[in-house]
Amino acid sequence: MSDKQRITVLGSTGSIGVSTLDVIARHLGRFRVVALTAHSQADKLFQQCQQFEPEFAVLLDADAAQRLQSKITAAGLITEVLHGVEALERVSSLPQVDSVMAAIVGAAGLRPSLAAARAGKKILLANKETLVMSGRVFMDAVRESGSELLPIDSEHNAIFQSLPRDFGRGLDVVGVTRILLTASGGPFRSKALSELEHVTPAQACAHPNWSMGRKISVDSASMMNKGLEVIEAHWLFDAPADRIQVVVHPQSVIHSMVEYADGSVLAQLGNPDMRTPIAYALGFPERIDSGVAPLDLFRIARLDFEAPDLTRFRCLDLAYQALRHGGTAPAILNAANEVAVAAFLDEKLSFLGIPSVIEHALEQISTVPVNCLEDVQEADRQAREIASEHILNRSLSNASPFTLHPSTNT
Ligand code: NAD
Ligand code: MG
Repeated sequence: MSDKQRITVLGSTGSIGVSTLDVIARHLGRFRVVALTAHSQADKLFQQCQQFEPEFAVLLDADAAQRLQSKITAAGLITEVLHGVEALERVSSLPQVDSVMAAIVGAAGLRPSLAAARAGKKILLANKETLVMSGRVFMDAVRESGSELLPIDSEHNAIFQSLPRDFGRGLDVVGVTRILLTASGGPFRSKALSELEHVTPAQACAHPNWSMGRKISVDSASMMNKGLEVIEAHWLFDAPADRIQVVVHPQSVIHSMVEYADGSVLAQLGNPDMRTPIAYALGFPERIDSGVAPLDLFRIARLDFEAPDLTRFRCLDLAYQALRHGGTAPAILNAANEVAVAAFLDEKLSFLGIPSVIEHALEQISTVPVNCLEDVQEADRQAREIASEHILNRSLSNASPFTLHPSTNT
């Protein structure tokens, strides 16, 4: 048996998945891809299968899996094609797998990420929604199985790099006073509240620094992404809400910082390219080439910092509230946000409607403590129902939601 790191890439056709395979392709002597997965992109997954020849390829969608199977057979590849959520869980917990890159988007990533945690795999966690929804259940599973958990989100990866290795003993114990979570501020950082009502999905997805999937791009524009990341940091580093300060830093060069009791602040800097945190986690504890260009500080010339504006970016405020409330509140926030973002991308909800839908769901649904996955799943189900109903009612009472976006998809 080879001593290569054997890896499953969940969500391999997405933005993070493609960047992960790009780094892996630079180190074929070090990594072996065991499984690749996607929602329904059979063609793209087939190309990846040709390149990496994994043992398994999984599509959520059964019809897409059939299309992939025909291509795999015609090409004479040995890859076994599977479909469905159980198959995603299976390839996350196979005995021959060492590491799992968890890069499915949204709540759908929860079950496979959890399967990897329960199986004691090294987890490269991009799917922040797993921690937002069920941080306690997931972190308990990581601890019980002895999984190694490496954050991929650039901010959390930066924090991880800036913390001492024994931070698990407690932030106070290791002299950490605050986590400074940087935020680019997104494409609407300097837009007035009145202008935000009419922004389009295309504008929201045009991030100034990062190229990402559509859902996280909208989250960045609303700053819900930063809200989800505050909750993510809470679980990863056992940090209370008051110790996590969001700092708007438009250049996205400092990816986050850690402040210590002696006044030191440690930061991780780099070009905004996800291959850096991905390579860090893939190679950990060694450093490997990521393909990212060196940072040119003379070209960057300056670094700016601002306090976040919680009036214009209500989603960030709602996320702090949900974290402080605890229990199933973050799961409700996350599910209502997913429904609202999908409606916004579908031009059925205005941009400023997103926080209103989330606030409504948080008000309407009673929260419970999270003792098991079912508590989270029930909160997620209720929040989706309430959010969908609310969006429908809003669009019935507003003459037409479509008039909100007269010039989209330009
Ligand atoms: P993406 O939309 O580009 O890709 C998502 C991947 O998940 C695709 O392979 C897709 O086929 C698969 N997928 C989607 N729905 C699925 C479902 N229901 N079941 C199974 N598979 C499904 O998303 P992305 O931008 O790569 O983001 C992935 C995750 O990483 C998200 O949780 C995001 O918050 C996080 N993240 C992304 C970035 C980034 O730069 N893109 C940065 C930090 C964190
Ligand atoms: Mg991030």
